[in-house]
Amino acid sequence: MKFQDLPLLRSLLDAVEQEGYEQPTPIQEKAIPPVLEGRDVLGCAQTGTGKTAAFALPILHLLTSNPPRSGRSGLVRTLVLTPTRELAAQVGASFDAYGRHTQTRTAIIFGGVGQVPQVRALRGGAEVLVATPGRLLDLINQKHVSLSAIEIFVLDEADRMLDMGFIHDIRKVVALLPKNRQSLFFSATMPDDIRSLADTILRENPVFVAVTPPAATVDLIEQQLCFVEKQEKIGLLVHFLQQPSANRSLVFTRTKHGADKVVQKLRKAGIFGQAIHGNKSQGARTRALDGFKGGITPVLVATDIAARGIDVEEISHVINFDLPNEPETYIHRIGRTGRAGTQGIAIAFCATDERPYLRDIEKLIKTHIPRLDEYPHRSTVPAPEPTDLRSSRPRQPLVQTKPGGNRRRSSGGQGRRRPR
Ligand code: AMP
Repeated sequence: MKFQDLPLLRSLLDAVEQEGYEQPTPIQEKAIPPVLEGRDVLGCAQTGTGKTAAFALPILHLLTSNPPRSGRSGLVRTLVLTPTRELAAQVGASFDAYGRHTQTRTAIIFGGVGQVPQVRALRGGAEVLVATPGRLLDLINQKHVSLSAIEIFVLDEADRMLDMGFIHDIRKVVALLPKNRQSLFFSATMPDDIRSLADTILRENPVFVAVTPPAATVDLIEQQLCFVEKQEKIGLLVHFLQQPSANRSLVFTRTKHGADKVVQKLRKAGIFGQAIHGNKSQGARTRALDGFKGGITPVLVATDIAARGIDVEEISHVINFDLPNEPETYIHRIGRTGRAGTQGIAIAFCATDERPYLRDIEKLIKTHIPRLDEYPHRSTVPAPEPTDLRSSRPRQPLVQTKPGGNRRRSSGGQGRRRPR
């Protein structure tokens, strides 16, 4: 499909061409037509899939083609809520870029900086407002913003919003929106709590659109598996992190509390690491990430949602300290190493109670993760037989792993893989 096949205004197609986009991404192909028809959309897509243009282009089309429903110009007609100021700035910049040949103006508001320039931008008659929840509620309370003329509401990265504790703020904002509106709800994952939130925001029968993330290039990633019990995981982690090759390691835990605990225990062992998760302030997250990118912090301990925005090249090790309970997450995690053609190692720790997760992961990737043979703190519980890889749940394979395609590099001298 070409952009020209989508019924978008010429001015928007020109802007897209100037951006250098040749064809719509899958989420754009799927979401743009229903948004143009005025339907509510429940979108399962993560950053990097082109989801911003998937909602910004049809919204700009609708705002430009239709006069304000309120009959009054100068009021905000579209509200986009985002979890972080970086995302707000990015989404705002996208509306500006795609709308450069239209009259639509965008204002961006987020916390942590002075509100005066933001209020001034609002007074300039912005029709699109991109905001983080806290600052938006502040400005509403101060009567600088009214949501009474909103025609389209977008909730972006809903799962990250919940992870960062914004649920009450979201509910307060939604309560202030006109009932008669179009709503677009985007989230990278769709667990039950996100679906229930979506049910309270969207009208009945929204259009569901989903895209799978780009397949990870797992060929370049050496995967290893260690059976280790919970209380021994720190000792094993220290063992791997002490190897000279582990110069930039990303460690995944299932919970925020777990991430903090790992960082504390590593410090006791003389290894400097920092945690990154939804309970950390924006400043703390930025500092941790900058330290990791700059090579000052050799270890970053992250939860999945917080790690999503991390785009750091040359991560030497991805360590699954806890196995994820959603098997697709394993692929997202290990895809963070082996980028830009560099080789990386992905090590997974599996405690006895995590063996069902391992089974699901191996069924999804359709391969057995090579078991390391010798390593300290090895579980004394006998290792399970490799699982039958025929999946009982039909799932779409996200990656093709070559049988035996993971054996390019040794684990740094300590481990030897058992022949399979
Ligand atoms: P997003 O998922 O919205 O954060 O977009 C990810 C990146 O893809 C951004 O840098 C966009 O500029 C870019 N992008 C969005 N749509 C397209 C497209 N159709 N073709 C090429 N690049 C795109």
